[in-house]
Amino acid sequence: MKKEQIRHLLNLSIEEKRAFLDSFDSIMSDCDGVVWNFTGPIPDVDKALQLLKHKGKKLAFISNNGMRTMEEYKRNFNNLGITVNENNIVHPALTTVKYLKSVNMRDAVYCIGTEIFKDYLRNAGFTVLDGPTQGFPDERVANSVRVYTSYFAETDSPKVGAVVMDLDVNISLAHLMKAKCYLERNRNCVLIAGATDTIVPLDTSMDVIGPGYFIDVLERASGRKALVLGKPGLALANFVLEQFNVTNPERTLFIGDMLPQDMGFGTRCGFQKILVLSGGTTKGMMFSHDKPNELPDYYANSFADFIQLYKDVAEKH
Ligand SMILES: [Mg+2]
Repeated sequence: MKKEQIRHLLNLSIEEKRAFLDSFDSIMSDCDGVVWNFTGPIPDVDKALQLLKHKGKKLAFISNNGMRTMEEYKRNFNNLGITVNENNIVHPALTTVKYLKSVNMRDAVYCIGTEIFKDYLRNAGFTVLDGPTQGFPDERVANSVRVYTSYFAETDSPKVGAVVMDLDVNISLAHLMKAKCYLERNRNCVLIAGATDTIVPLDTSMDVIGPGYFIDVLERASGRKALVLGKPGLALANFVLEQFNVTNPERTLFIGDMLPQDMGFGTRCGFQKILVLSGGTTKGMMFSHDKPNELPDYYANSFADFIQLYKDVAEKH
């Protein structure tokens, strides 16, 4: 798709709108910036979701946010009149659990992430290490070579079989040093990345640094490549295609607000893609983006444009 050809959904002709609505059976959607923002639900998205469900479209949600408990996800969607459970919601903490189970991980997991993310791993029965904590009551390693040496040279007990990195605002050089030690001490230790976003939009006027740059540092320093279990990871794409039994990917529509994560992921899966302007990307950013595989097929102001789309088609019947 050339960026000059990307059209607004509501600017399609009636025939094109109808053909478009008939062209997919399933919708997979991002959550933050699409269904809700950090300030609350995006107006009328609940009506759009219910309408699509009523029209027989299957709904699933693929988020890069593993910092919300399953109860919170269920409650948020419940408030929008939509039921979610572990079968139709995907995020990096859940996919990390699935992956670790699939390889029958018995060794400990060193996790740089939030307590909620770590709880998903703990609740699934994995031994989670974090820190630096041992001997450092305020979680800081004293700035002394003698202390570093004993902390980083510490023999593994228990053995660490996976290093998992997601978003943790308290990440420090000590975390990265520790992670690198685990990866080097055990050549079979797998490096897993959850969200790889380099920039995380908090609202339409403010964004912050995400974990992506730190994963890059760890990859470079350790010489290892992360298995990416968040969007736009290849490993996640394989998981999603299998979990949802996708045989005709072009009959799935992916909706998101981020170009690399959402549109890049949609392309990787072979889905149709819509970028919504209700989150982290403006129209200007989309039209100046230079990676064709991270561009949508169409764009819309928000998910709520589906309501108008169905109205337009119905009126001309
Ligand atoms: Mg988003």
